[in-house]
Amino acid sequence: MNEKRIYGPVPSRRLGLSLGVSPIPNKACNYSCVYCQLGRTNRMTNQREDFFKVEEILAEFQAKIETGCQFDVVTIVGEGEPTLYAQLEELILGLKQITDRPIAVITNGALLYDGDVRKALNQADIVLPSYDAGDEETFVAINRPIGSIRYGDVVEGLRRFSREYQGQLWVEIMLVRGLNDSDEQLAKLKEGLKEIRHDRVYVNAPIRPPAESSVQEPLPDRIKEAVAVLGGISIDQLVSEGFYSEEFDHLKAVLNIIQRHPMNQHEIAHFLQTRDCENPALIFDELAKDPHVEGVFYKGYTTYRIRK
Ligand code: SF4
Repeated sequence: MNEKRIYGPVPSRRLGLSLGVSPIPNKACNYSCVYCQLGRTNRMTNQREDFFKVEEILAEFQAKIETGCQFDVVTIVGEGEPTLYAQLEELILGLKQITDRPIAVITNGALLYDGDVRKALNQADIVLPSYDAGDEETFVAINRPIGSIRYGDVVEGLRRFSREYQGQLWVEIMLVRGLNDSDEQLAKLKEGLKEIRHDRVYVNAPIRPPAESSVQEPLPDRIKEAVAVLGGISIDQLVSEGFYSEEFDHLKAVLNIIQRHPMNQHEIAHFLQTRDCENPALIFDELAKDPHVEGVFYKGYTTYRIRK
């Protein structure tokens, strides 16, 4: 396994300083959400697989811990959908042997109809499933699932898991203007949430460059209304503090982070400032010249990510 499966710590607006574990190859997913910040799904699959050996992921995690890095939570999040990793349960149990920090899993929730996936996720301390649509038509329009996935199965899986699960269930709703932010859609989501036992609802909006350029975030008042209707918490935007890298070279440090977590220009500037970088403009020049780096201008600022 040459590729790194552990990254960060990176700041997460919901979880604090998060040490990431990615058991999934780039953009393997059973959805191709219009708002996905990783771009369109290029490996559409609903087959659970042992993409990487669990022992190797755990060894890399152990080595990372031994560096003494500080973090609040371990987050299992793929560059795709982490429940597609067939050894998810072994991975969570193995991580728990190494750290006493909480283990969170960020998932689209599609596979919660599968008893093995529910069993694996039962081992996590926090599960953050998506719930973006109150009906099948909207589900297909926003999440663009692989053909074998049915809305009714996904929702039933989420309901069932919510009743079985003893940990923290934080439902995340991504609002996309014109797709799921109407009064009618919010009412359907509200009805659906009544059937899902949950501890929190996060209302999110696409603030990073989405897979489809037509995607827009709802107007600020609409987000506030949605938060009120759904009893949620709004995820606020822009500068996430606390990006961290052990890499000494500033440019390499930025490249390492954006490999898995796009950073906007404000985040990079702040990150370089925390490292006492003497010439941030030079780093931005290098990023602009690098053919592997893509700068996407969106919402009035540039976000940098690795070109796929
Ligand atoms: S489920 Fe997540 S990784 Fe998959 S397409 Fe949607 S946003 Fe992207």
